[in-house]
Amino acid sequence: MKYQTTIADRIELDGIGVHSGNPVSITITPADPDTGIVFQRSDLDELTDLPATVDYVGATDLCTVLGNPAHVCVKTIEHLMAAFSAMEIDNAIVEVDDSELPVMDGSSLHFIEAFDQVGLIKQARKRRYIKVKKPIRVAMGASWAEFTPYDGRRFEVEIDFDAPIIGRQSYKNDLTPSTFRDELSGARTFGFMKDVEGLWAAGYALGSSLDNSVVIGDDNTIVNPEGLRYEDEFVRHKTLDAVGDLALSGLQILGCYRSYRGGHKMNAMAVEALLKDKDAYEIVTADDTPIVQDQAGASVSISAAVLAPERL
Ligand SMILES: [Zn+2]
Repeated sequence: MKYQTTIADRIELDGIGVHSGNPVSITITPADPDTGIVFQRSDLDELTDLPATVDYVGATDLCTVLGNPAHVCVKTIEHLMAAFSAMEIDNAIVEVDDSELPVMDGSSLHFIEAFDQVGLIKQARKRRYIKVKKPIRVAMGASWAEFTPYDGRRFEVEIDFDAPIIGRQSYKNDLTPSTFRDELSGARTFGFMKDVEGLWAAGYALGSSLDNSVVIGDDNTIVNPEGLRYEDEFVRHKTLDAVGDLALSGLQILGCYRSYRGGHKMNAMAVEALLKDKDAYEIVTADDTPIVQDQAGASVSISAAVLAPERL
């Protein structure tokens, strides 16, 4: 689809926050062209826009947090962002009545189903893309990630865990609405039983359960009675996370994204490195027309400065 897209009608979803354990409701409404994805906290007196762009990314330790310097924040946005980006939805307002999005079943499945129910509408403005022009690589310890030029949106994600039940897994494919729907959208978040107590003590994962996470027990088996949805569900979930984290660039990225032992932090670092290097990308429309970035109204929010404090 070459034109910007929004949802055709409002969506309401309820659930719990995986870290807070609190009940939370979200309302997603259609938005005008060039709005992007904007989060709002409907439980606060003052309505503040939190655009889903790198400028607003705060902590990335356990989940991705959007926040502003006034400490208004929304946590755990990555699975919804992945669904928007993969289904090529450019514009929407997401109202949240708490500080964290509902975790649903730990994947993007419920968001995709909700989009299917209301349908999408094409808008009267062309979509813009970030086109990768040269390789950009970031590394941290044994982990690395890189963007390279590619005609499309491609993900090559590899993980390597000591836990034998996960081990080394890789997922490589072009990202399209149908590959995301069929291969990635149902892949759930996962965690280790041995980490749970520490997370609880730190005030995280309070809403975490077998309904929204794949849990690996101390005996290296899957605790969930239903088992895995895909044999390599772990790397598929890591790919889903990467799709969501790259969406914080504000536009679809035309290029190949490769990561080895990556995560939210590595994904955010790679996006920041790409956007910081003006020779590494250009903003184009679907028919490949470059857009001059300093033309009024033509550029997206691409400053890589992280305004929000690390912890919100
Ligand atoms: Zn995730």
